[in-house]
This record gives sequence, structure tokens and C-alpha cells, in this order.
Amino acid sequence: MFSEVHCEGTASKTQLEGKPCSLMGMKVLQKATRGRSAGLFSLIDTMWPPGMLLEAAGRGQACEEVKAHGPPPSFCYVLAAHPDMGQIDPIEDDPISKLYQPPVPRVLREILQTDDLSTRCSFYARVIYQRSQLNSLLLLQQRETWLVVTDVSLQGQEGNDPGLPKTVSVCVAPSCVLSRAVLDALTQAASHSFLFRDTLRAHGQIVCAERSVLLLQKTPLSAASSVPSCELTSPVQLSKLDSVTQVNSVCSVQGTVVGVDESTAFSWPTCDLCGNERLEQSPGHRGSFSCGDCSRVVSSPVLRRHLEVFLACPSRPQCTVKVKLSQPSISSLLSVAAGEDGSYEVRSVLGQEVGPLPCVVRSVSAHPAGGVRLEEVELLTAGRASSQPGRRP
Ligand SMILES: [Zn+2]
Repeated sequence: MFSEVHCEGTASKTQLEGKPCSLMGMKVLQKATRGRSAGLFSLIDTMWPPGMLLEAAGRGQACEEVKAHGPPPSFCYVLAAHPDMGQIDPIEDDPISKLYQPPVPRVLREILQTDDLSTRCSFYARVIYQRSQLNSLLLLQQRETWLVVTDVSLQGQEGNDPGLPKTVSVCVAPSCVLSRAVLDALTQAASHSFLFRDTLRAHGQIVCAERSVLLLQKTPLSAASSVPSCELTSPVQLSKLDSVTQVNSVCSVQGTVVGVDESTAFSWPTCDLCGNERLEQSPGHRGSFSCGDCSRVVSSPVLRRHLEVFLACPSRPQCTVKVKLSQPSISSLLSVAAGEDGSYEVRSVLGQEVGPLPCVVRSVSAHPAGGVRLEEVELLTAGRASSQPGRRP
């Protein structure tokens, strides 16, 4: 029989993993069944059968071994400790239970090629993009977060299967409890490797939800280790935008500018020293600005722009591809087109080649001839903070 024990505050959960424990002062919160607690049973099915053959109940009696494992259990008790007398104590002389089934990490290629969606999967992967640079721990805990990850099995030589993507999107649901170390790593603008434990698969994506665990991998895994390494040596490769590209994924886009969305195009001056985007018109100095953060007159402000272009992409013919460009791409696109006052002729932008650009897919129309909306992004790199010009700390 399986039971899930809610041991909030009773003991450190990581110290108990795999260890036989004695429970005292427990109360039954719920008898969970397969039909109503699919998430819990996907975890039980992943740990089934146990690491050793089970013994029939009642020690001292016949103590007869059950020769084969039966089907996985159909119910599970959810227990919690009574506030005053509840206790969970590891049994000291028995370090690791023979019943314990640790998670078995697999490479992403293997996980994507498996059709079995009923059990959980664990893997090591490097985060190369995180939707919206969250700089608030609070936001990260309350919202669904999208991570784009990859490993050597998708990047390496054996990953050159045209049917497999180079990167995978992972949805971290608010129900996935993240440790402080993981939250800290996710709020940094740098790439980190994690062990994703007991994740679910749903609608073609990997989901971290209740009972999934993210563990930060601090040091590169040694070659002698049996766990698959996710250390990538060369720059990360992305899949090209094509007809199977999904929303929230990251892809590489290349094409010819065939149009500019003039209704959304605008520019604004920023401080050349601190990147402040809210400059004020200097009184008395026509055309110059002052920065409230630096308390100075900004004589040569840096112009930032919002520009979305339509591309003709050979990889998605017949499809409207709209890309919100990053500042460096806008600068290079306009370098040949801009006049002295910063204005530019749409005509001179048309026909220019752009890319390959790393882009996140914001939306994909269900209609095959419909549109794809993309946003150019900066991929996270290991150990180096993001250096987008003008970005405020
Ligand atoms: Zn400033």
C-alpha cells in the first residue's frame, strides 16, 4: 500500500529520501483514487514495482513472499501529522530501503520518443531561455513560468534527427514548489543546469507540477558519472521555424523583410549612462533631455525603438511571419535606412535579409496559411549576465 505523508514542518524532506521511517500520530486526510488523483498516481506508477519483492502482511506469521508484483495499487492514503503528536523518525540502522526506487534520469531525446505519458520522467537539462526575465521572486512563485531547455542528446551529433526539436519547452506550474536556490537561479539572467525530477507530459510539452522537483546542478557532471551530462560545449543550436513549430518554443528565423508594422513602430530616448527610459524634456534646452536617475542633462540620448517586421521565410512559405525585433537587430536593419534625425524610409528596409535570429513563438494561427508571431530574444549563456544594451539593472 502507498501513502503520501504531508510532513510540513515535521522534518526536512530531503534528509528522509529513501530512508525507512517510523510514523507516529498520523491522521488520514483522504483516500485518494486513480480517477480523482491522476497526478499522485502517475508518481506511484513511476515507482512501481518496488525495488524488491514484497512480503505478505503480518511478520512473524507465514511471512510468505509474494512471488510476482501485482498491478499497481488503485488507492492511496493521504496522511498528515497531528499538530501536537505527529512525528516522522528515520530508522537509524537501515540507511536506504530496498523498496526505494530513485528517479532514473533519461536524456531528452529518449523522453520525446516515448509514447508512454502515464508515468513521470526525470532529466538533466540546461535552461537557455526563460519567458520574461522575472526579477521578482514573488512573480516566479505565483505564475506559470516557461523555460526552454536542451541537453546533449538534442544538440549533439545523434540529435540530428529532423523529427526532433533542438530544444524543449518546460512549463513550471505554480503548484510546483521551488526551493530558494532554484528561485534565485531562475531570477538571474544566466543559464543554469537543473535536474528536473518527476515531471509530467501533457499536450506535447513537459510540465513541472505538484510533486515535481527542480534541483540546481552546480558543478559540471563528471564523465565517469552514470548520469547523462547536460554540459553543452558548442553554442546552442535551434530548430528552424517550420510547420510544426509550437507556441512558447524557441526557434531560429531567417528571411526577407516584406513589410513593416507602422502602426506599432515608435522610438524613445534613453539615458546613455544608466539606460533610464523615462527621460524628461529639459526646460530651456530644446531637444535635450534630463535623467532623473543620474540628475544630469542627457546631451546624446540613446534612441530605443519598437519595430515589428513581416518576413518572407523559405521555411514557412505561404505564411505571415511577424517578428518583433531586438534593439541590435533594429539598429543593424536601420543602419542603412535611417536619416540623420533618426527617421527612416520603410522602402529602404524592404528587401533586406535578416537572421538567423533566435525567436520565441508568441502565437501560431491554427490555420495552415495563417500567421506566426515571433519575438527575437537573447538566449541565456552560462555564467554571464545578459548584456542587452540599455537594459536597466
Ligand atoms: Zn541616467
